Amino acid sequence: MAKKIVIDPGHGGVDSGAVSNNVKEKDLTLMISKYMYDRFKELGVPVSITRDSDITLSPDVRPREILNKYGNGSDVIVISNHINAGGGEGAEVIYALRNNGMLANMILKALEDAGQKGRKVYQKRLPSNSSKDYYYIMRNTPNNETLIVEYGFIDNAKDLVKIQSNYKDYAEAVIKAVCEYAGYKYVPLNNNIGTYVVKKGDTLYSISKKFNLSVDELKMINNLTSNNISIGEVLKVSNDSNNNVYMVKKGDTLYGISKMFNTSIDELKKLNNLESDILSIGSSLLIPIMGEGNIDKVVHKVVKGDTLWSIARKYSTTVSAIKSLNNLTSNLLSIGDELIVPR
Ligand SMILES: [Zn+2]
Repeated sequence: MAKKIVIDPGHGGVDSGAVSNNVKEKDLTLMISKYMYDRFKELGVPVSITRDSDITLSPDVRPREILNKYGNGSDVIVISNHINAGGGEGAEVIYALRNNGMLANMILKALEDAGQKGRKVYQKRLPSNSSKDYYYIMRNTPNNETLIVEYGFIDNAKDLVKIQSNYKDYAEAVIKAVCEYAGYKYVPLNNNIGTYVVKKGDTLYSISKKFNLSVDELKMINNLTSNNISIGEVLKVSNDSNNNVYMVKKGDTLYGISKMFNTSIDELKKLNNLESDILSIGSSLLIPIMGEGNIDKVVHKVVKGDTLWSIARKYSTTVSAIKSLNNLTSNLLSIGDELIVPR
């Protein structure tokens, strides 16, 4: 039987989930989930969502909402999206006792391919009755294939920056894994970052104009340290359609939104031509994403030859700024280390 998908954005309403530095789990899970829902629709996959706004779903209502969508069959895949807390790093996928770990492992692998650290795939038993699942979302959707995906730790600065700047990539990773598992054709986003082959006469300036970028952005996306490019070289390019759109909801402030997306109030006002700080509920805000020169922090993975000095130069920052952000006491780096870098 053709599989159906229910997306469940964790928490919501009075239940914020984990909170760190003014960023709330319920907002991140909603953002990831809505993106996922739209993309599954676009791909022609039967999909439903338990909430698409900031409402409270109590533990007895939420599973009922899920079962109401496509019933209680094993042909229903439930993806409950969460952000972890408690001092760790990386993604976790939890699957129900009744299921095998195949989909969970595929999802974790896809998240790793998208650049997030894979922490673990596991099951968790109820202490008072070890034949039952620990999580009510699994217990009370008793025949569905129910998974919890934790994208990273909200209280880990590196994870938070990664989730904020790469959440679409992480959502795509889950979508891709689910499509492969369920036998649906997955088509990557075509308005995402594309590539361009350098032709005779091209300069970084002419290419940047063509794709609506600045030279600095183009260099940043491609980790270029000089202005030299050669014919036939493949460059990553992106365009303005990469801006995210966020729907303003009750209680939102520019400050809260800027925190959620790792940007600044000034950037938000500039991008949206806002003259005051007043937001109206239901209006859409453009949110800058990485690659457009607006985000104030990114995560850089150390490659062979990198030094603190070369990284600082690449991102137009200082060695001491990188060291203090990452609590580094020496200048030694190891390949594969991930550093938070201010821009
Ligand atoms: Zn949660």
